[in-house]
Amino acid sequence: MANQSIPFSEPLTFPDHWNAGVARRSTVQEPPIQVHRLGPNTIMLRQSKTLSYEAPFLYLLFGRERAVLWDTGATADPSAFPLRTTIDALIREWLAEHPCDPYELIVAHTHAHGDHIAADGQFTDRPQTTIVGHGVDAVQAFFHIDGPAGTGVLDLGDRVLDIFPIPGHQAASVAVYDPWSGMLLTGDTVYPGRLYVSDYPAFVTSLTRLRDFVHEHPISAVLGCHVEMTTRPGREYPLGATYQPHEASLVWSPAHIDRVWQASHTARTPGIHRHRDFTIVHGQSTRVIVPLMVRGILWKVGYRLRG
Ligand SMILES: [Zn+2]
Repeated sequence: MANQSIPFSEPLTFPDHWNAGVARRSTVQEPPIQVHRLGPNTIMLRQSKTLSYEAPFLYLLFGRERAVLWDTGATADPSAFPLRTTIDALIREWLAEHPCDPYELIVAHTHAHGDHIAADGQFTDRPQTTIVGHGVDAVQAFFHIDGPAGTGVLDLGDRVLDIFPIPGHQAASVAVYDPWSGMLLTGDTVYPGRLYVSDYPAFVTSLTRLRDFVHEHPISAVLGCHVEMTTRPGREYPLGATYQPHEASLVWSPAHIDRVWQASHTARTPGIHRHRDFTIVHGQSTRVIVPLMVRGILWKVGYRLRG
């Protein structure tokens, strides 16, 4: 196992809990985006469940010469989901303390599903900004990744990220490792929730790669893009839940990667494979998806009735 006691240049601190929607009759408002500073140069954002049940997490990492935003959330409309103005303000704030002109923003993606790229359009007219394409070829070309087994880099200026393909959930999925903080971003491939597998052999290969990686590198946190597990082991919130008052922790360790890797081998048959900390959803056939949808519909009815 990687040495956990290695001091990182930027130790990260996580919030006790994330905004996770509101009860239907609650008068409490939740902001469209929750911003949390993990460290002086590392920011996490979460889109509110009141805008989209997906409530994805986004990551903004600053380097000396440029910043990178990983993912743009599930909602395009800037009046509902003001991602651009939020990111602009965070960059302005950072530049006030670390002047640099020009200072570039890279908008990149953990993968190309709609709940991770929806607000890309808010950045198309932003000066000094590059939006990385969504396809496998565009991603590999931008990060100089030499084929599916290769590793690319993104140099932010004194902070160089490793980027490598982890297809299986989606063809353009990548993992992002930040040696500066020890964080490993795993997108929707590994997180405390439903791990949807569209290409099973690729998923197993990617999990093996992630497992080898965390055994060879110091890791402070394994971070995905959603939470769907409750604090009760083996129990997830239903598909489409917009209020999750008892979410499991998003922050995972290398041991969790080991568990998903092990489970990936026993999830050979299409279907729903439940485990303590996650659920593997292998395939998208009606037999697999309908039970998830039915539970989601029942939850929505209950939410309306309970308030
Ligand atoms: Zn997602």
